[in-house]
Amino acid sequence: MTYDVINPATEKVVRTVELASVEQADAAIARAAEAFTSWRGIAPADRGRLLRRFADAVDADLENLAALEVENAGHTIGNARWEAGNVRDVLHYYAAAPERLFGRQIPVAGGIDLTVAEPLGVVGVIVPWNFPMPIAGWGFAPALAAGNTVVLKPAELTPLTALRLGELALEAGIPPGVLEIVPGAGTVVGQRFVTHPAVRKVVFTGSTGVGKQVMAGCADQVKRVTLELGGKSANVVFADADLDKAAAQAPYGVFDNAGQDCCARSRILVERSVHDRFLELLEPAVKNLRVGDPADPATEMGPLISARQRERVAAYVDEGAVAFRGPAPDGPGFWFPPTVLTGLAADSPALTEEIFGPVVVVVPFEDEADAIRRANDTAYGLSGSIWTRDVGRALRVSRGLEAGNLSVNSHSSVRYSTPFGGFKQSGLGRELGPDALAAFTETKNIFISTED
Ligand code: NAD
Repeated sequence: MTYDVINPATEKVVRTVELASVEQADAAIARAAEAFTSWRGIAPADRGRLLRRFADAVDADLENLAALEVENAGHTIGNARWEAGNVRDVLHYYAAAPERLFGRQIPVAGGIDLTVAEPLGVVGVIVPWNFPMPIAGWGFAPALAAGNTVVLKPAELTPLTALRLGELALEAGIPPGVLEIVPGAGTVVGQRFVTHPAVRKVVFTGSTGVGKQVMAGCADQVKRVTLELGGKSANVVFADADLDKAAAQAPYGVFDNAGQDCCARSRILVERSVHDRFLELLEPAVKNLRVGDPADPATEMGPLISARQRERVAAYVDEGAVAFRGPAPDGPGFWFPPTVLTGLAADSPALTEEIFGPVVVVVPFEDEADAIRRANDTAYGLSGSIWTRDVGRALRVSRGLEAGNLSVNSHSSVRYSTPFGGFKQSGLGRELGPDALAAFTETKNIFISTED
């Protein structure tokens, strides 16, 4: 079976990709299982060296990878360069890990007790279409560093950069079978990662609905699972904040990647006394966003991924609630203007559900307690921002919010050296940073008797 990959800015077919069958997925898993026997035994320093060479190969190919993502996913060229650079940086970060996977020596009677961090085996990484490169790298880099091998399934819509990363790994000297890229349907290849007994862990990033199915499927074999799921994050603006800065940055906190961002701050909660002033400041920031050709370095927002996604997003927008909109080009391409909604009822789907498009809802709040209550009034808990000049308040509200990744006086969420993941239905486990390695190893305890 084949799949036509579409450029979302032109609606033209970019390439036709072969989708793997269950038998082909099984063959890839078998190659990864075979490669595991030698990969886990490579001297730690050599494994680190190979990951650094892979990082260097990504760096040398950065412009090509970025151009592929512009064409395949409609990402702006600026974002796509950052994303390819993120894969390089994540590989460099975890390249240091093989020599630092320390165990412990624990005091016990009658001998010596020590722990070792063992790799799991074959890890299945299932990637969504919204950030194809970084999310692939967050899965494979720590997994490979810890001595596992990886089978990786890109999303049907966006397989091109993952396929290129697989080629680069081989060119860099990563042995065949260590990183297998398996393009295919979620219900075929993704599902096979869940059910195949040789796959010892699944790292799934995608929608909460499919994530629940993956988790339930993994339960059958008590398979390890990391889940990175949806979000409905809050951007909380207090009256004492630098309002100009908060309003200038708010569009980037939600409209980045055309809102197709699990960390999108898609609810802006504003203290009532500055609510109207905030909207006055937000309006020009939204109207001046540069939306258009993603290959133009000046562009700040590209198209949505597909016609289906545009229909889904449009269904959330009640025209009566539109406060103002930014621009969107005419013509071919899955364009949707950045859109600001106000005055919504508390149970409105646009306020409670993940839209995954360039739509933000602005809501007034009364005081600190009300802000925390409203921000937490969601099944999700991935991200969020707090804008205030009061350090005590910043910390109190940070501690009060049920979310895994918060920023104070900033809209940014992701750093490769810090843990990333969600509370509640936004996920399970953490990626990136030092914590991720523990998710790709089992602790083995060994007691050695010193008695005669
Ligand atoms: P999706 O759940 O439809 O698909 C994600 C991946 O799972 C794809 O590769 C798909 O082919 C595969 N899949 C589909 N059905 C499957 C099944 N039954 N078994 C195994 N795999 C299956 O999600 P999407 O539409 O590609 O991505 C958007 C979603 O991803 C949003 O909800 C977004 O918030 C979430 N996301 C979360 C994070 C995070 O880190 N928390 C990051 C990016 C995206």
